Amino acid sequence: MQGYGCRGGSIRLFGFAQMEMARVDPSFATFFGVHDGLAMGSIYLGGSEEQKQKWLPPMARLEKIGCFGLTEPLVGSGTGGGLTTTAKREGDTWVLNGQKKWIGNAPWCDVSIIWARDVADNQVKGFIVENKTTPGFSVEKMQHKIALRVVQNGLITLDNCRVPEANRLQNDRSFRDTARVLRMTRYGVGWMATGCAMGAYENAVTYSQERLQFGKPIGSFQLIQDLLAKMLANITACQCMVLRMSQLHEEGKMTDQHASLAKAFTTVRTREVVAWARELFGGNGILLDYNVARFFADAEALYSYEGTLQMQQLIVGKAITGFSAFV
Ligand SMILES: Cc1cc2nc3c(=O)[nH]c(=O)nc-3n(C[C@H](O)[C@H](O)[C@H](O)COP(=O)(O)OP(=O)(O)OC[C@H]3O[C@@H](n4cnc5c(N)ncnc54)[C@H](O)[C@@H]3O)c2cc1C
Repeated sequence: MQGYGCRGGSIRLFGFAQMEMARVDPSFATFFGVHDGLAMGSIYLGGSEEQKQKWLPPMARLEKIGCFGLTEPLVGSGTGGGLTTTAKREGDTWVLNGQKKWIGNAPWCDVSIIWARDVADNQVKGFIVENKTTPGFSVEKMQHKIALRVVQNGLITLDNCRVPEANRLQNDRSFRDTARVLRMTRYGVGWMATGCAMGAYENAVTYSQERLQFGKPIGSFQLIQDLLAKMLANITACQCMVLRMSQLHEEGKMTDQHASLAKAFTTVRTREVVAWARELFGGNGILLDYNVARFFADAEALYSYEGTLQMQQLIVGKAITGFSAFV
C-alpha cells in the first residue's frame, strides 16, 4: 500500500517480509496478515478517499488494529453466495444482524471490517465497525485452538448493530470487491506457508547435526538426509512459485486462479515439510519444547484458512476447464 502513512515498497518486499515473519512464528505473520492485508487492504481497495485518510494512517502506525469478518458459523467455503449476515439501511444508518466466526484479532482489536448482504439488493457490502463503541457489537474469544495459538480468534455477534452510512466501504458493490481483497491475501498466505516450511526445516537441520544415535549425528544417516533433501526441494519450489506470483502481481497480471494456485501448492508442500521435520525429531517432535510441533500445528491452519485446498483447486479447475464445480 502506498501513501496514507504506509511505508510503500515493492510487492516482492512485502512477500519476503511475510515469509520471514512466518519463518519465526506463523502466528505473528497471521496477526499481521489479518491487520495489514485483510483489514487495511479492504479499506485501501474499497474505501473512499475520506475513509482511507481517516482509518489507514492510525492503522499503519498500529495505533488501531483491525480484523476482517467474513466467515460465519454456518457459512465458510460458501461465503460467495451464501452470507446470512444482513444489512438493512434506515436513513443514514445501517442495521447489521448475524454472526461471524473465526475472526482473527477480533477479541481485542479496534476496527472490524464486516461483510453483510444488503437486504434491498442482495449484494454483499463492507462496513467499518468500531468494536469498542458500536452498540449491538459483541465478541466472544474462541478457545481450544491447536494452531496459531497466539492469534486470538473471535465469534462476533451483531445484534441490531447500528453503523453510519459514512462507515460503509463506499467503493464496494458486491462480493467481487470482497474477492479482490482475498486475491491479494491468499497469495500472501503462499509466502507465509513458505516461511513456515523454512522455519521447520531449519530447526530440523540443526537437530540432525546435534542429535546422536548409534554414536553418530542422525544427520549422517542416509534416510535422514533423504528427509532433508525432500524438504529443501519443496521449499525451493514454493519460493519459486511465490516469487513468480509476485512478479505477475507487480505487472498487474495476477488473477484469482493464480492466487489460488499459489495458496494450494505452497500449503500442501508445507504440510509435507512440517510432517517430515516433526518425524526427524522422533518423540521430541511431539513436544512443544523443540520448536517443530508449533510449525506442524500452524501449517494446519494455513492449509484451511483463506479458503481450503478444495476451494482453491475448484477455482483453478474452473479456470482450466471453463466449468464451475461450485456455483
Ligand atoms: C485459524 C483460522 C483463522 C481464521 N481467520 C479468519 C478471519 O480472520 N476472518 C474470516 O472471515 N475467516 C477466518 N477463518 C475462516 C476460514 O476462512 C474458514 O475456516 C475456511 O474458509 C473454511 O470454511 P469452514 O471452516 O466453514 O469449512 P467448510 O466450508 O464447512 O468446509 C468443510 C470441508 O468441506 C469442504 N468443502 C466445502 N465446500 C466444498 C465443495 N464445493 N467441494 C468440495 N469440498 C468442499 C472444505 O474444503 C472442507 O474440507 C479462519 C479460520 C481458521 C481456522
